[in-house]
Amino acid sequence: MKKLRPIKRWGQNFLIDKNIVAKIIEIAELGREDFVLEIGSGRGILTEEIVKRVKRVIAVEIDKKLCVLLKERLGKYKNVKIVQADFLKIDLSSLNLIPHTKVIGNIPYYITTPIIMKLLQDRKDISSIVVMVQKEVAERMTASAGSKNYGVLSIAVRYFADVSLAKNVSRKVFFPEPKVSSSIIKLNVLRRPRVKVKDENIFFKTVKAAFAQRRKMLVNSLSHSLNLDKKLIGQILEKNNVSPKRRAETLTLEEFGKLSDHISEVISLKTGGGIG
Ligand code: SAH
Repeated sequence: MKKLRPIKRWGQNFLIDKNIVAKIIEIAELGREDFVLEIGSGRGILTEEIVKRVKRVIAVEIDKKLCVLLKERLGKYKNVKIVQADFLKIDLSSLNLIPHTKVIGNIPYYITTPIIMKLLQDRKDISSIVVMVQKEVAERMTASAGSKNYGVLSIAVRYFADVSLAKNVSRKVFFPEPKVSSSIIKLNVLRRPRVKVKDENIFFKTVKAAFAQRRKMLVNSLSHSLNLDKKLIGQILEKNNVSPKRRAETLTLEEFGKLSDHISEVISLKTGGGIG
């Protein structure tokens, strides 16, 4: 097989350790009938092991040259389709996924969060996601209220899924070795979001607004970022038994849910619609 020089811009850190490949597969709990979407297949070390174990694989890879290599390596298997595309630009419906698709990826770290958010927002056919992420991102995703790593990402992930840190991974399993430590995380997508909110858009706006100035008291960060009167925010907080002095990082997902429902109400009263 030809060797191609890894391209930094595309976050190419290839796996070179069969044990970690086996571990990823074990964490994904693959079975004969499974349908898998792999993101960032690279040279196909992981892809080939997946292809041998499941019914069908769609492998998305941005790099044209790697796609040529992948087609050579995997040509003997009939249950894999290689799609050359930027995963972030792809319309998931064009991939013709089937319900309960399992997503797997050793993906570039600088786009981990947008990739996961895209999958969660468009999760209709997705049952689980197993991805390699930077250790700090794994810590943010799995953080609970009150911890210093708790933030918008922790809440977004918990809203849509059960998330667990499956394994910390040594840098030595990659070529070239990345500068940061890595972890494998697993997300089991919930059938319905964990809390029921009136308006999902406003729920996320509320969470983002609260954390936009995470050191400030909630009453200030919310009124400032949502451009709403401080007194009104104070009343909403009071109605929800949330002290205006609390900071965003102390609020649970459930508390954010209730708070955003009241905020949705005043916003629709004010504008007769969303906040754009
Ligand atoms: N999964 C392989 C490759 C890991 S490197 C392995 O474990 O060895 C990350 C891979 O993601 C690279 O092959 C890179 O070209 C690809 N990639 C980077 N950005 C991408 C994007 N936006 N869409 C799809 N693939 C991408």
